[in-house]
Amino acid sequence: MNEKLQVFTEKDADLSLLEGKTIAFVGYGNQGRSQALNMRDHQLNVIIGNIDDEYKVRAQKDGFPVFSIDEACQRADFIFILIPDEIMSEVYQSKIAPNLKKHDTIVFAHGYDIAFRYIKPHKELDVVLLAPRMIGIGVRECFLNREGYFSFIAVNQNASGHANEKVLALAKAIGSLIKGGLSTTFQDETFLDLFTEQGFAPANSAIMMKPIDILKDFGVPIEAILIELILSGKMKHSFDAMRNFGIINQINLLDSRTQYGVLSRGIRYHSIMKKIVHIQEDILSHIENGGFAKEWEKKWSRIKLAVIKFFATRVSFGKMESKVRKNFKIPEVDLWEEKPYPTIDEIREKESIKKQLEDFDRFTDF
Ligand code: NDP
Repeated sequence: MNEKLQVFTEKDADLSLLEGKTIAFVGYGNQGRSQALNMRDHQLNVIIGNIDDEYKVRAQKDGFPVFSIDEACQRADFIFILIPDEIMSEVYQSKIAPNLKKHDTIVFAHGYDIAFRYIKPHKELDVVLLAPRMIGIGVRECFLNREGYFSFIAVNQNASGHANEKVLALAKAIGSLIKGGLSTTFQDETFLDLFTEQGFAPANSAIMMKPIDILKDFGVPIEAILIELILSGKMKHSFDAMRNFGIINQINLLDSRTQYGVLSRGIRYHSIMKKIVHIQEDILSHIENGGFAKEWEKKWSRIKLAVIKFFATRVSFGKMESKVRKNFKIPEVDLWEEKPYPTIDEIREKESIKKQLEDFDRFTDF
């Protein structure tokens, strides 16, 4: 084990620290609902802070006392801030910070707003990170079936002198220590999360999309390609095998011809790795020096996102995929939000967006 890293389990935490305390969840979405339910199952006093809408109704239906965000923060000793990251600093300034008292503990599930200093908590507060490496629904499921899930844990401010014990007790209460809580910092958690999104996920997609084109041009029906690569779930099993047996070890689950094909052809890709590593290092340094956060702050980045998504809905691949799903009666769920698209003038105004769009691989393919 790396000497920097500590791994905490249930025996390291004392739930009695939370007895008689009030724990507020600001936000009752993906993470908020699951974490609040897990915590309540430990007979702790959990309340919800939410504005007056469907999430509030959901929390009430689940039997929680629900208050305005201001009132929940006033009542609580521990405040989980589980709302979307992009509105967090605004909600923190206006509704959370004014209602906190000395030695209250504020809990984040992602380090972004602290790491990039969008939120600067008062020095009399304890500031901790409890970041599940699991989607919200999994946080509940893995708690109920006692499988557990990994979390990253960090302390950024320890005003009370007890922030370490507090975060471990909270981690146990939401079921995080069944599997293990890994010590980290707000910065490392943020860099790791952003780099996985930007350095790993898009590279993976780019590498996957090209063979689809190659096979299609070769004359293989798109239905067969999509079933082979995605719809059959074969890939999911490969990832599960890596998780269960190890990235290298799982190769032994394959027959020898497949092993030979994978390994001998895999070596050929090493010659292009330098280029990919260069792109990935550049992405990482842009995250680390705050450049990405600054870029995302700009209004133009939202417009750029809307433009890219606009074209993404129109690329021929999307249409093909949709047709294949219909043919196989696989239900389609529309996940595209109705958002006003930027005007042509807005797009023309910004040279950098035009440049990015030219780089957008399938820009003309619709
Ligand atoms: P959600 O998008 O599910 O949060 C929804 C909640 O935020 C609702 O209660 C919603 O209430 C509230 N909300 C939305 N807008 C506002 C607003 N303007 N003012 C006040 N409340 C608002 O968030 P997640 O659970 O996905 O994420 C929460 C945190 O957890 C984030 O920091 C995220 O990075 C982190 N995280 C998320 C993971 C995931 O799998 N989703 C995994 C690990 C960490 P309403 O609409 O009623 O206002």
